[in-house]
Amino acid sequence: MGRPRNDRLAALARRVDIPVWQRDSTARPTMTVHEPFTGEVLGDVPVGTVDDVEHAFVRARRAQAEWAETPVRRRAAVLRRFADRVHARREEILDVVQAESGKNRMSALDEVLDAMLTARFYADKGPGLLADRRIPGAIPLFSSATVVRRPRGVVGMISPWNYPFSLPMGDGLAALFAGNAIVHKPASLTPFSTLLGVELWEEAGLPHDVWQVVPGSGREVGGAVVDRCDFLMFTGSSATGARLGAQIGRRLVPFSAELGGKNPMVVGAGADLEQVADIAVRACFASAGQLCMSIERIYVEQEVYDEFCDVFARRVQAMRLGAGYGWGPEMGSLVSEDQMTVVTEHVADAVAKGATVLAGGHRRPDLGPLFHEPTVLVDVPADATCHAEETFGPVVSVYPVADLDEAVARANDSEYGLTAAVFCATPEQGYEVGTRIDAGMVNVDEGYPAAWSSLAGPSGGTGISGVGYRHGSEGLLKYTQAHTIATQSRALNFGGPGSLPQRVWGPALARSTNLLKYLKR
Ligand code: NAP
Repeated sequence: MGRPRNDRLAALARRVDIPVWQRDSTARPTMTVHEPFTGEVLGDVPVGTVDDVEHAFVRARRAQAEWAETPVRRRAAVLRRFADRVHARREEILDVVQAESGKNRMSALDEVLDAMLTARFYADKGPGLLADRRIPGAIPLFSSATVVRRPRGVVGMISPWNYPFSLPMGDGLAALFAGNAIVHKPASLTPFSTLLGVELWEEAGLPHDVWQVVPGSGREVGGAVVDRCDFLMFTGSSATGARLGAQIGRRLVPFSAELGGKNPMVVGAGADLEQVADIAVRACFASAGQLCMSIERIYVEQEVYDEFCDVFARRVQAMRLGAGYGWGPEMGSLVSEDQMTVVTEHVADAVAKGATVLAGGHRRPDLGPLFHEPTVLVDVPADATCHAEETFGPVVSVYPVADLDEAVARANDSEYGLTAAVFCATPEQGYEVGTRIDAGMVNVDEGYPAAWSSLAGPSGGTGISGVGYRHGSEGLLKYTQAHTIATQSRALNFGGPGSLPQRVWGPALARSTNLLKYLKR
């Protein structure tokens, strides 16, 4: 447990398969990755070019052809071995994730658990989902049909820095399992988690070249991936998602995008406020609030509003902040000065417009260069930036509402619709309220992990929170192209028996087609 050694990170950087870099690692600009806890240098990785992306696609296409021929059961075995490698190497994964993202160890553990669970889920359920599926043919007894799934080819993947291990591993494993290869541009702040993940894949038996990593800038390297891939899996901000959707739409290539959120929590009278406050600490401040599913708005029924604010503020003030690789801190660092700027600007703007800080509100340079206190705001006016815009940091606003109907209306008053949490007097009431919230994932009596980890169900956003789904059948089948192959009996084709004139066959066809309504198909 501790900061990864420099030579270990340098070895990971050498996994970047850029020929020019491999021949002479000085013949290429590099980007430097820093440890957010301290601001110190962790290591360098090469910066790719459009040519490198082109080479990566050539290698990936070659490797994909062979990988797609690997029987599904063997691909499932690779997924299982990957899950085992993740478990066996979990301490190193936690160290690398913490080192480059600055999150606390418990939030990093979410990434390990998620990758293991998702790999085992698709290893178990995936073969059935990908199997050829017989469907009713057009003419009973005379037609048969089968749906066959084929991989799309090479999936382009672009991932963010906030969950640098679990997001690309989870999305990547479904793409791989479906028989695709991947060309991946990881976030510039956090390439090492991906490179470690790819090392584990190769240990698990994934052939070399099936997962290519090309670090580099979003615009150049990311743009080149978008221009070449057969399917794009993008995770990041809604603004970038919209830009890439337009770019890939010009080639009519399908894509899936998991984007931002401004996630609401509803607290009804009768909920156990101490328990809600405890869960809200995780839901709002896991990964220092740099989690797409973080709660940033809490709507509390008026009669328990003051009490909730009191309990929640006390709980937040007692949170243990800190740098380090132990299990002690409940919250770690922000990832970058850019994130810090957004957070401090959102807080200052809300306060200038009349908001009150109930807890936190300040930078904590005594803990590290990028620490900011978990912050609870009340009386946030509608014109404050953080009222509707995603902060993506440790800032949450609490609002009183007259009743649960108003809570639902306010929760739904957003362009986003990623996730939501509901706490009411009973689980049944929570469920009923949850069904009225317009979000892709709704958690009753939990913050975010309950819906996310229900892996058989789809996870995705409504509105500007996303296009498409991960998890469940949707999260696997999106990486396939469906082909319907129908076989017609030679005894009866759609033209009718050759001897029959059309004036006889036409009316007979209409009458028999009408009779199909009596058949249960
Ligand atoms: P971002 O700025 O959109 O960047 C995400 C990725 O896209 C990075 O790899 C980035 O590369 C790349 N990129 C940026 N501009 C690009 C362009 N013009 N062409 C191609 N690639 C480009 O988002 P972020 O700030 O890293 O991540 C935070 C956002 O992601 C938040 O809004 C958060 O809610 C969302 N998010 C959503 C989910 C989800 O599952 N719904 C999960 C995690 C995060 P560089 O790193 O080189 O800039």
